Parts: sequence; structure tokens; C-alpha cells
Amino acid sequence: MTVIINGETQASGNNGIPSIKRQKSHSDGFGTRAVHVGSDPNPETGAVIPPISLSTTYKQDAVGVHKGFEYSRSGNPNRDALESTLASLESGGAHALAFSSGSATTATVLQSLGPNAHVVSVNDVYGGTFRYLVRVASETQGLETSFVDLENADDEAILASIKDNTKLIWIESPTNPTLRLVDIPRIVAVARSHPARPLVAVDNTFLSPFFSSPLLLGADIVLHSLTKYINGHSDVVMGAAILPPHHAAWADKLRFLQNAHGAVPSAFDSWLAQRGAKTLHLRMKAHGVSALRVAQALAESPYVEDVIYPGLKSHPKNTLAYRSLSPHARKFVDSLRSPSDVDADADAPADFPYGGMVSFRIRGGAREANAFLTATRLFTLAESLGGVESLAEVPARMTHGSIPDAERAQLGIGENLIRLSVGVEETEDLVRDVEQALKAAVSGAVVNGLNGAY
Ligand SMILES: *Cc1c(COP(=O)(O)O)cnc(C)c1O
Repeated sequence: MTVIINGETQASGNNGIPSIKRQKSHSDGFGTRAVHVGSDPNPETGAVIPPISLSTTYKQDAVGVHKGFEYSRSGNPNRDALESTLASLESGGAHALAFSSGSATTATVLQSLGPNAHVVSVNDVYGGTFRYLVRVASETQGLETSFVDLENADDEAILASIKDNTKLIWIESPTNPTLRLVDIPRIVAVARSHPARPLVAVDNTFLSPFFSSPLLLGADIVLHSLTKYINGHSDVVMGAAILPPHHAAWADKLRFLQNAHGAVPSAFDSWLAQRGAKTLHLRMKAHGVSALRVAQALAESPYVEDVIYPGLKSHPKNTLAYRSLSPHARKFVDSLRSPSDVDADADAPADFPYGGMVSFRIRGGAREANAFLTATRLFTLAESLGGVESLAEVPARMTHGSIPDAERAQLGIGENLIRLSVGVEETEDLVRDVEQALKAAVSGAVVNGLNGAY
């Protein structure tokens, strides 16, 4: 397996990696690594773009003598290439494994904890992760989970939730769909201070490796649904786990489990996801800039009760959002601000791009939400997120429909909460679309309501 250690963690004098790769991965910026790492021209043909390797099996020159590939479930050139790209893009990463879905990644990481382990999970974790913890791992491996409000609980409360058999703390930040922020370094410090020494996992799907680098904040493993931003074109279901250099043994165990149960992505999907990843930095900047403008427009609208976007200065965790930016995202965000801002008040920036997800509460209820979602011209009413095209949904009725009403209410997921995945269309077109749909939904709904009443 190719192991690419990126600029932050590269050891010198490594003779196992071809020099051209070493040069490309050494100190280049995020976008350069996205385009080049894992994409060397084909040595046989000179093809600049890697061919798709569909063969399931590989010729051996003598028994056990081969070029690193035997059977495609165990290893495939396109999957290896994508894994090199991912290990490089997730800063602080050294080992990457690509899976057939984000959910398969989650399942394999949890399986690796063995029987009768305990996990502490952020309370509004992704629905599929919740289902695997509570309805699958509990049954098949006796796994027990404590759900904790990792955003607001103090250190003592988090420490108290850790048991002798706690193997893992599971974080998502921001959470879905109310974009709560978890302070990753704080959770890492709490975990390290407990004798059980649980490892810390971060599902980094929502921010992508562009906006957030949890491994640099002390996390032990990062997971992604590549289905979202990393592939970015809503045409591949895939996942990945990335680990830092000191977790080689855990990475080996995950690879063993993955090969044993076969949760591997296809060569074609790996190729597509790698093509997507090459423009991750460009897309994330565009998502961020437009999401911020949409959030600002929503904040100014009389038809909106409440906007949730951590990049807005009015967001209660705005300072944490800024502090938690990856080094490359910090550079991008600071480049949008005047130099005097950066020097004067580094901890309290003005509004800034922070990912592409925006949630808001429309004035009214289910009816206004539905009216908005059917009045947009560019935002397509659909689940999922992270593609180049803008999407909108109402979590209470769609992605979070299976959560019991009382719990949903407690998490602030009402029928008027709308989640936007802001795409990379022209910013002004998106803002105009949101504004016209709000107007149509709220004023239109009121007029219709009056008509109906009279
Ligand atoms: C979509 C998603 C997943 C699951 O990934 P799949 O590729 O759909 O299996 C996990 N976590 C988060 C935050 C997600 O958005």
C-alpha cells in the first residue's frame, strides 16, 4: 500500500517512496496535493490520467511473486491511488482506507473495537451512525453507547461518561442539521486525561479536509462519507478512514477487517472520487463564499426566524469555528479579510466562509417550509449534500424523519427547519433564488391561508 505522508508530518530520508512522489507530497499546498498526489503519469504509457483497472486478478511471475496486487478485493490500483490522495489531503494523515460507503467505514471502525466495548458519542450523531451503534453493534458485539451533548457538557460531565471499557469517543462537528460545534482539542484533552484512554474519532464529512483537519487537533482517526464533498458530484457512494502515522497497527486491523467482509469500493468509483477530489479546494472555497452570502441574506429576511451558520459573527460558536479552521482554510479565510482585521482582532473575525451547509427556520411551519422547498428554482428538493448543485430539504420530514418527535424537538429540529447544501452555482443567482422562494412561501402562504379561512 502506498503511504504518503504529507507536508506536516513528512519524515526525511524515506527511501521507500519514489522521489517524484516524495517531492510532490513534501511541502506543497492543499490544492497542489489534491491535483498531484496519487496521480503520477502512468510509467508504461505516459497517460497523464490513471487508467481504470478493472481486472479482478493479477498475474504472478512465480508463486507469490507479483507487483503488489493479487486480487482486487484486497487491493486495486485505482483504490490505492485514491487512498494516497486522501492520506495527503487529510492533514496529519498517513494511512487511508477507501470503503464502499461512509456507513461501511463507520461499521468497520466500530467492529475494530471488539466485543463489549463502550463508546461515547455526540448526541445528534448522523442517523446511520446512530442506527449502527444502537441497533447493530449493540446486538452483534455487545457495544454500549452513551450519547452526550459534547458541545455543552463540561469536562467533568464528559469524564463521568467515560468508563473503564470506553474505547472510543465519536465526534461530528458541525452536527447535522443544527450545526452544533464540538471543541475537538478539548475533547481530546479530556480523553487523554482518563485512565481508559479512549481514542477520538471525528466524522469530518460536513467540513471536508479543506475546512477542518481533526488529526492536527489530536484526533486518532478521521472518517468521511466521500459521497458528499470529496467526490462532490453526487454520483458516487463511498467512504474513507484516515489515520495518523502512529496508528499503523490500527490501520492494518481495519484493512484486515475490510478485506475479510469485503466492504470495498469499485475501481470506477475510486477513479471518479479521485477525479472529484482534485477540485475539492476550488469547490469548498466556492461553497463557503456562497453559503456565507446565502446565510447573510437569510439573516436579513423578514420571512426568516433564525439562521444557523457558524461563519456568521452572530453564531454563538463563531470564535470556536474560526479557531478550528484547518491551516489552509485559515489562510483562505484571512485572505478575504483586510490585513488590519487579521492583526487587530485575530480571535473575533467578521463573518467568514465555514463550509457549504446552512440551516434556517422559516417563519411559519410545515406548510411554509414545503412552500419554500417547492418554490426554489435552483435548489433541488432532495436529501444528501456536498455536490456542485444546490440542494434543500426539511430534516424533520426527510433525513431525520425516523427520530422520535420528542427527541427531535429537543434537538431543535422543528417542521420549519430547512437545511441547505449550497452548491457552486453563481452566488447572486443562489441568493436571488432563496429570496424569491422565501417571499413566495411566506407571503404566498399567508394569502392562501386567508383565502382558505374566508
Ligand atoms: C452521508 C453521511 C454518512 C454516511 O455515508 P454514506 O456514504 O451515505 O454511507 C456518515 N456521516 C455523515 C455526516 C454523512 O453526512
